[in-house]
Amino acid sequence: MSPPRRTRSIYRCAECGHDHPKWVGRCEACGVWNAVAEEPVTERPPHRARPSSRPSVVPSPLSDIEASRLIRWTTGLPEFDFVLGGGIVPGSLSLIGGEPGIGKSTLLLQAAARLRAAGRHVLYASGEESPEQIRLRADRMIEDAGPVLALGETRLEAVLEVTRKSGVELLVIDSIQTVYTEELESAPGSVGQVRECAARLMRFAKETGTAVVVVGHVTKGGAIAGPKTLEHIADTVLYFEGETSLDYRLLRATKNRFGSVDELGVFSMTGQGLAAVPNPSAVFLAARSGETSGSAVTALMEGTRPVLVEVQALAAPSGYGTPQRVATGIDPKRLAVLLAVLERRGGSSFGQLDVFVQVSGGVRLREPGADLAVAAALLSSLHNRPTPPDALYLGEIGLGGEIRPVGALERRLTEAGRLGFQRVFCSRPNAPPPNLRAVSLSHVDELVHTLAA
Ligand SMILES: [Zn+2]
Repeated sequence: MSPPRRTRSIYRCAECGHDHPKWVGRCEACGVWNAVAEEPVTERPPHRARPSSRPSVVPSPLSDIEASRLIRWTTGLPEFDFVLGGGIVPGSLSLIGGEPGIGKSTLLLQAAARLRAAGRHVLYASGEESPEQIRLRADRMIEDAGPVLALGETRLEAVLEVTRKSGVELLVIDSIQTVYTEELESAPGSVGQVRECAARLMRFAKETGTAVVVVGHVTKGGAIAGPKTLEHIADTVLYFEGETSLDYRLLRATKNRFGSVDELGVFSMTGQGLAAVPNPSAVFLAARSGETSGSAVTALMEGTRPVLVEVQALAAPSGYGTPQRVATGIDPKRLAVLLAVLERRGGSSFGQLDVFVQVSGGVRLREPGADLAVAAALLSSLHNRPTPPDALYLGEIGLGGEIRPVGALERRLTEAGRLGFQRVFCSRPNAPPPNLRAVSLSHVDELVHTLAA
């Protein structure tokens, strides 16, 4: 296969598609800033000149196509395999995004070591660290990463050549922001380079059957060359997140062509690398004390798995000026809505109070079913009365103050029962739950009564 002949680059606007002969900060056609990125122009022979001896393609009826079972390579790192939907798929391109320093390289080196131990040929190409630094990292891990091939190289062409020649089955690129193709003039990490390198890696994966895993850094500001532009290209997109101050890291699939999305894997950061946490609920509730006000527990559905988390709230007299609203792990707008509903429908005013809400373990509340727990934590803090230590709160709160049921009630309650919870505050269930006592609430009024003295 001869490399495509390069003639020149064009600079195309990602917003409107207008081409520029050279890079400009602002698109000449649509006026959008920072949307113009370099793209290669490969000169193709005119259509007529194409050799007519190319094999023609033949379609076949779907019924004649054999359903092949998807092959997956399990790493044996349980939470990692689980989030991937069972393991790494050969010929796929996966992207792991996350803030610098969160542990992406450690996770992938551990997975690489385990796959190597299972007999797969693995190459870890890093432009972030020298092979010596990777070796130091590997020495601290429980896994034996010794036989994993390491390469300190950022030229994509060189990395792909080595991969092809040494029969590598899994290629890790750490990170997409450091590799570059010599066919573009832009610097590594620029939008054009990131996009073009990702597209080539995808083609390479499909052509050779090599599984490619790419690390992508996301900055808090959401830099334009971040993995957002890559998400469309990759088969699987994972996010590795967590508060750097906490020991827990959450791995979540936001896109998966071979499995379900929104599955959550939980790891703890140890001196020997990342360890899978088999029982996240217990960990997230471990620091909870039953006697403190401003705390309520809910069960979230993270993909197919229920996870129990503690919502903490603190309402305190505001020192001066406009009261503060500080939300961690919950959308500030959702918090504002809940405060307004409690005020207008539940007669509980937070108007002159600073309000702080946070969720244990660095988890984010993504579903409205957590509303009732947030409201319970707020009211508990307001009245300085702890919620019952064995109680779970499940329900969405409407603008009229009505409490609505949540889905997958049984699975959530099974998890709660396993952890010793005995009653659940929720809207009236269709059938009484088998393991917990249901205290049905239809309006926030009733919630206020259970928590106001
Ligand atoms: Zn434009």
